[in-house]
Amino acid sequence: MAQIGLAVHGGAGTIPAQTLRPEVADALHEGLRAALAAGLLVLKAGGPALDAVCAAVMVLEDDSQFNSAHGAVFTAAGRMEMDAALMEGHGRRAGAVAGICGPRNPILAARAVMEASGNVLLIGQAAEEFARAEGLVFMDEAYFSTPSRRAALALELARRASGAPDTRSDADRHGTVGAVARDQAGHLAAGTSTGGLTAKRPGRVGDTPVFGAGTFAEDASCAVSATGTGEVFIRFTAASEIAARVKYAGQSLEQAAFEVIAELASEGGDGGLIAIGAHGPAVMPFNCAGMYRGCIGADGSLLTAIHNEPFRVRKP
Ligand code: ASP
Repeated sequence: MAQIGLAVHGGAGTIPAQTLRPEVADALHEGLRAALAAGLLVLKAGGPALDAVCAAVMVLEDDSQFNSAHGAVFTAAGRMEMDAALMEGHGRRAGAVAGICGPRNPILAARAVMEASGNVLLIGQAAEEFARAEGLVFMDEAYFSTPSRRAALALELARRASGAPDTRSDADRHGTVGAVARDQAGHLAAGTSTGGLTAKRPGRVGDTPVFGAGTFAEDASCAVSATGTGEVFIRFTAASEIAARVKYAGQSLEQAAFEVIAELASEGGDGGLIAIGAHGPAVMPFNCAGMYRGCIGADGSLLTAIHNEPFRVRKP
């Protein structure tokens, strides 16, 4: 029986350490722990990594602190266009959606694409119609929208109109949620869900639903969920690059993941990722100020962190 493993992230768009109020930090840690706990419950019961990833991502999607589903950022046109992807390492089944707004949990729309469409990626209105036909729960646009995301959009549109330099914090620019897991059978899975970038061009799709860029899973190498400047993660096929280095170059997952994230930084790709391999703990490198993240420790503890501080540890 394989040792179970799980990691989650709430995006590399973190509030700067200097302005992060303690009660806000506590709530962020709580959100990450809730996601870990949901995934862990599945894995401990012997459930598949795929179910654990969905359970964890759904908790983060429902939490408006993170940029996905409830609390997603707005496009420049004041709409929300969400991307999500899910991939299984065993057999490499995959499903994704892009540019949707409607399903309460976009990760379930990605799962429906994987399980019931015969395709891998559906976009926009047709993806929404497919999700509706599959019986997914839908919400009004108002459910997804939050005052802080609206304020971030207004600020960015005003800045663009004035031509002032971009001094926004990462938290006002972007974010994503994701999870990777290894189940008792040793199978891996990865899932990612995002609203993308604040004030993005309508129709813009990031790395999240692009397999091999922001999401990837393969039992023989690793499962990866990324966050950051999507365009760069796509151009450098970040996730599959890590998998290839593990598989063909004999690198450890840690070495491959940290090296790729460092290389992306030099190409203007700010962000990070979580990854898990066939054995050993998850790795969670990032090349920016922080990444909301968490994983389970060897004793089942829930470990969470935001910037470079030591993990907060919640004993089992
Ligand atoms: N990677 C996401 C995107 O480009 C954004 C993020 O993770 O911050 O859509």
